[in-house]
Amino acid sequence: MLTRRSALALSFAAFVAEAQAEAQKIPVVASFSIIGDLARQVGGDRVSVTTIVGPDGDAHVYQPSPADGRHIAQARLIFVNGLSFEGWLDRLVRAAKSKGEVFALGNGIAARKEEEGQDPHAWQDVANAKVYVEAIREALIAADPEGAQTYKTNADAYLAKLDALDAEILQTIAALPKERRRVVSTHDAFGYFAARYGIDFIAPQGVSTEAEVSARDVAKIIDAVKTHKVAAVFIENVADPRLAKRIADETGARMGGVLYSDALSDAKGDGATYIDMMRHNVKQLAKALAP
Ligand SMILES: [Zn+2]
Repeated sequence: MLTRRSALALSFAAFVAEAQAEAQKIPVVASFSIIGDLARQVGGDRVSVTTIVGPDGDAHVYQPSPADGRHIAQARLIFVNGLSFEGWLDRLVRAAKSKGEVFALGNGIAARKEEEGQDPHAWQDVANAKVYVEAIREALIAADPEGAQTYKTNADAYLAKLDALDAEILQTIAALPKERRRVVSTHDAFGYFAARYGIDFIAPQGVSTEAEVSARDVAKIIDAVKTHKVAAVFIENVADPRLAKRIADETGARMGGVLYSDALSDAKGDGATYIDMMRHNVKQLAKALAP
């Protein structure tokens, strides 16, 4: 039987072993929660991922903290979206004098162009998320060749899940009547989703949440909702819900619940991973748009 002291010694040894294992992991920083999840899926136990903009956070207008600077300084790999999503990032990396390599995953996809510039929300198309995952896999293999087999195995398994997710979304949306596939969201975050899966999104705010919404913008949306018989108005987890509620009130359109646009939910929510977030969104859309 273990004495109390030897049990303590054992648990201390386990604690030390765990701390050592943690210290040997590749330090990775992800700029926001969605990329953080993708990096964890591919990196598994070999990496330690720190996410800068956490659950329900708005990366368009984030203000970095000193702790973010420390994480960036220690990172070997820094995964970001790019496409002008994280306007605060370059300065943070420079100020932290980080030797970590920055990978802008969005550079690998064909970006949509909007009036204000490139649309950064590429992850809303699962095919683009797959491009992100492949880039993460290659970056991890280059930084940690010993783990190559692990990264390949993890990425293969996850890519297969993304293929299934993509097929599921296509099928669910295709089953909805075409004339009902038009909704309002707060900011223009679903352009890639719209292009791949076939739902029209109308948004008072542009591709960044930085720009203010004018009374004229809102009036225009209200007109559009009435003219096009929009089925539902959605709130986003990163945006103020009041604007959406006002549009629903003034048009009589149905409130369609919360969509995860630019961030995951916290661990207790039903969008705690990228796959869960996409499933949640599609479920909300299907519920609101079913005849
Ligand atoms: Zn956004």
